[in-house]
Amino acid sequence: MATLGIDALLLSHGADLPWLTGYRAMPLERLTLLVLPLTGDPVLVVPGLEAPRVPDPGGLFELRPWSDAEDPVDLVVDLLRRAPVTRLAVSDRAWATTVLALQRRLPGVDWAEASRVTSPIRAVKDHHELDALRAAGAAADRVAAVLQSGGIPMAGRTEAEVSGRIGALLLDEGHSAVNFAIVGSGPNAASPHHEPGSRVIGRGETVVCDFGGTLALDDGPGYCSDITRTVVTGAPSDEVAACYSVLLEAQQAAVASACAGVTAASVDRVARTVIEDAGYGELFIHRTGHGIGIEEHEDPYLVVGNDEVLVPGHAFSVEPGIYASGRFGMRLEDIVVIGPDGQPEPLNAADHALVVVDN
Ligand code: ZN
Ligand code: ZN
Ligand code: ZN
Repeated sequence: MATLGIDALLLSHGADLPWLTGYRAMPLERLTLLVLPLTGDPVLVVPGLEAPRVPDPGGLFELRPWSDAEDPVDLVVDLLRRAPVTRLAVSDRAWATTVLALQRRLPGVDWAEASRVTSPIRAVKDHHELDALRAAGAAADRVAAVLQSGGIPMAGRTEAEVSGRIGALLLDEGHSAVNFAIVGSGPNAASPHHEPGSRVIGRGETVVCDFGGTLALDDGPGYCSDITRTVVTGAPSDEVAACYSVLLEAQQAAVASACAGVTAASVDRVARTVIEDAGYGELFIHRTGHGIGIEEHEDPYLVVGNDEVLVPGHAFSVEPGIYASGRFGMRLEDIVVIGPDGQPEPLNAADHALVVVDN
């Protein structure tokens, strides 16, 4: 904050608040805001009826519950006026209503995203966070193993049914929440973020299954899993098999390249080069990966133009895909962390092959 000239951090909805305090604000309209000045004591302004949910702050910050008869923006402005403020950083995911109300009351203040302060710190995981990510990855692997062993009936079921089954398994394996369970079959597999629906899965189709949840160790805020395995319901066509061997090579080469000292963009380049050289470059329509932690998507992003250098403690997905619009699609995704030795440590070990699921 001092380096960036930020007088106070204002943390509302989003992951920064639970990351820092263990408290996740309910995503409702009432104002929750941690006012964290550069100098002085932090205060969590919280709706009175939600105050009982706040874990004991143990002296780290003061709690200021507000009643429905009060204006919480008044409270925040009073707290901020204890010292001169010229620059404030506010949660990237704060409601516009919160930010606009504060801007009207604090004219002349310069505003920045809180991620300017928090993202570089959050991106480098400590060993507690890595343990939570490893546990989440292992739990997702167990679900992938059920999927790949034919434990989830596919052909003749709808995508929504398969998605529901995957979600239930994520909970069975220790997640506290299911964040998503994408199931895209046949032509829908070519839509990377397909919303699973009423389409009935047929025979001989690729089915992209991309799922993840939040898993908490001890009383921590919970860290995310995210894995993609593509299965095929019956023997794959020659074209699908050829594409998949390219995809596998691209993904494995990108994982192996993700060492401390290389840029985030270079990992994307490694995956893209393999796919381009095989002639499928036009069909790889998204970045190679995203950071992961308390949020499913956070820094660092493995994308063209991101010259951020990877360091031990970085955690991210490596997930190239090949999408033939209207026909089929495939993606392969592992979470990878950079270990203390600077080498990539994949957190997912589920079979990387294009597994035939024959039921
Ligand atoms: Zn995605
Ligand atoms: Zn995913
Ligand atoms: Zn992902």
